[in-house]
Amino acid sequence: MNIPFLSFQGMHPGIKAEMMQAFSEFYDGNWFVLGERVKKFEKEYAAYNKVEHCVGLSNGLDALHIALRTLGIQQGDEVIIPSNTYIATALAISYVGATPVFVEPDLQTYNIDPAKIETAITAKTKAIMPVHLYGQACDMQSIMNVAAKHNLFVIEDNAQAHGATSQGKLTGAWGHMNGTSFYPGKNLGALGDAGAVTTNDAVLAKKAYTLRNYGSERKYYNEVIGYNMRLDECQAGLLSVKLKYLDQWTAQRKQIAAWYDEMLKGTGDIILPAIHQEATHVYHLYVIRTKHRDELQNHLAAVGIGTLIHYPVPPHLQQAYAHLGFKKGQFPLAEEIAATCLSIPLWPGMTQSQTAQVVENIAGFYKK
Ligand SMILES: *Cc1c(COP(=O)(O)O)cnc(C)c1O
Repeated sequence: MNIPFLSFQGMHPGIKAEMMQAFSEFYDGNWFVLGERVKKFEKEYAAYNKVEHCVGLSNGLDALHIALRTLGIQQGDEVIIPSNTYIATALAISYVGATPVFVEPDLQTYNIDPAKIETAITAKTKAIMPVHLYGQACDMQSIMNVAAKHNLFVIEDNAQAHGATSQGKLTGAWGHMNGTSFYPGKNLGALGDAGAVTTNDAVLAKKAYTLRNYGSERKYYNEVIGYNMRLDECQAGLLSVKLKYLDQWTAQRKQIAAWYDEMLKGTGDIILPAIHQEATHVYHLYVIRTKHRDELQNHLAAVGIGTLIHYPVPPHLQQAYAHLGFKKGQFPLAEEIAATCLSIPLWPGMTQSQTAQVVENIAGFYKK
């Protein structure tokens, strides 16, 4: 048996002709950076995300970085993020010289617990960066309320949740400036690195357009110390094709998750994903938890089922952040999730019988 953790077989072969056509048009167009394809994809993604502006960028980490820079967050400032996020969220904050401040997640949804945000706010706090982890939308209205009360910016990290909603409103449309990633394995993935920021604020969008291109609006005249963080024409053209299929692929992800929910219920000590009543989940990842995580992962690997751990070490315990002086035990919920979580295979095109095989092998592990 071979059930990979992630496969493109349900997505890429079916759109190959269209993708090759887009590549061919790009190739013959002889224009490679910041042209019509980037503009077109920005328009399409903004429309999909129901926001006014989208700025196409080099990757998701750069998107978070540019969002922070655009909002003027800098040395001495503090930014609140969930303690169980992917390292990129923290790194972007470090890039602008600010300090990440960790707040524990809710142990049901794995998203930042809005009720705990307020106690982490200090005079230095400038922003909250909620992360729609694994594909489930955060409780955005509660987060926006805390932010408004304390006059803070909100920057959504929407790398994992294209198309998810909180109270019916899309992720990536709530915050002042939001970052997303089109890394190949994300729900909407390029064939290489790509990302974007989304915003409803024309002034902020203009700043971000300038920052991504050497801080220059007019070629060879530089207003600010900018970056080269541009989305390229090739990826933009390919993303325009894939965006048309995103909802269809998301529906397949939801179907597979529903099969897992049904078939895994009551298996061993497994904790299944739980969805907040106001949120939707687009299942970038299907994450279960068990005290026997490592043994279960080995058992599945031995029969040819791929799994991954998102993530084995929370940011506060990473060597890169040793200088912040955090200790083991300081964020027990993030550490508990890191010690027990396991992401099992889920990708568009995965069949019901493949899903059942994963479930049978998990059940088999508990019968041993
Ligand atoms: C993937 C990811 C990023 C970074 O995106 P890249 O395109 O890989 O730079 C940021 N935050 C989260 C939560 C992610 O999953």
